[in-house]
Amino acid sequence: MVPGTLGAVAESGRTRLDQLRDVALTCTRCPLAQGRTQVVFGVGNPRADLLFVGEGPGREEDLAGEPFVGRSGKLLDRLMAEEIGLTRAECYIANVVKCRPPNNRNPAPDEIAACRPYLEEQIALIVPAVVVTLGNFATQLLMDRTDGIGKLRGSVYPYGPGHLVPTYHPAYVLRAGGEAMAEMRADLVRAKRLVAERPS
Ligand code: URA
Repeated sequence: MVPGTLGAVAESGRTRLDQLRDVALTCTRCPLAQGRTQVVFGVGNPRADLLFVGEGPGREEDLAGEPFVGRSGKLLDRLMAEEIGLTRAECYIANVVKCRPPNNRNPAPDEIAACRPYLEEQIALIVPAVVVTLGNFATQLLMDRTDGIGKLRGSVYPYGPGHLVPTYHPAYVLRAGGEAMAEMRADLVRAKRLVAERPS
């Protein structure tokens, strides 16, 4: 939980995810707050079985207030539909950092640390069967590993009451093409199988 914040709004009658969003929308925990147009909290079904975690908003996401609306997002939407049969509204999509790093640079360790409680609380409230981490930043953060995504992907890991499936970031797949695309598709099929196995 984000210390000292959520408790203050817990009586309002909105869902706890709504309340967490309210807190995040005015966040000034790190310097990224200064350059953002808006906070990109996350989007989708608050009871989703499948939660995708990207790196951080780019220019288009910063303007739209929604994760993965640019080229990477179009690919993610397509692979989600083709391999899992779900739309973004049926899943949940979040990022490691909720504000755009300037010039699309990588998020810095202090920015990731400042934003981490929001992501962890999102996951704790949604309780997905499967978290799919997209690329190095999300994978290394949630797995607490320093290995690269090329080494970690291709397997399923336990995560809380569910599982974690690491895969490539769609921006990498757009650059790398063929084989990376096939591997990402295979990872999404893994995630789909795990969701199907979730006890109801
Ligand atoms: N890349 C990400 O990691 N997240 C987004 O929301 C958009 C692009």
